[in-house]
Amino acid sequence: MIDPAVEQMLLKDPKSYVISADVVANVTATNTLEHAFMVLSKVGYSRIPVLTPDDRLQGMISLAAISEYLLHVPGAAVEQLSRYTVADAMLPVNRWVSDPTKLETILNYLVDEPFIPLVDDDKVFQGIITRRELLKRINFMAHNLHKYYDVTAKEKVADQAEK
Ligand code: AMP
Repeated sequence: MIDPAVEQMLLKDPKSYVISADVVANVTATNTLEHAFMVLSKVGYSRIPVLTPDDRLQGMISLAAISEYLLHVPGAAVEQLSRYTVADAMLPVNRWVSDPTKLETILNYLVDEPFIPLVDDDKVFQGIITRRELLKRINFMAHNLHKYYDVTAKEKVADQAEK
């Protein structure tokens, strides 16, 4: 369980660590792999969401998944990426959240994932929570905890800190 004080500090403004859907680069499953490759190269991210035409989260596409797919197509080369679609190389979405305040889950997921998609109850994509944005909140907490709480070390911890 997350310490309630830490949780309160991190949750002061949950919207601040969600990058909203309208500024998240994405592709659709019917886009060509060439298009996905160009979008990924242009935005400089290694992985972006794949959305349906009605904005539901369908999968993920990454530069690594595109390269991996090409390796398994005999004779395929980068210039043939226009012959294949995102659906051919798309990765499943294994982890997502539908509540940006579920910090315990989000922190656990972000240990392994660079970002977590946020969807509503109908799986309509709302945005992403990235390590970077959450680290900004943690940085804020690290510098401001004393302004909101009196933090007193327990004797045992204080002893250890002196050693
Ligand atoms: P960061 O923590 O900022 O390095 O972001 C982690 C990952 O989240 C990136 O590598 C991308 O896969 C994804 N990401 C962050 N911002 C965006 C964005 N605006 N559009 C699409 N993907 C993003």
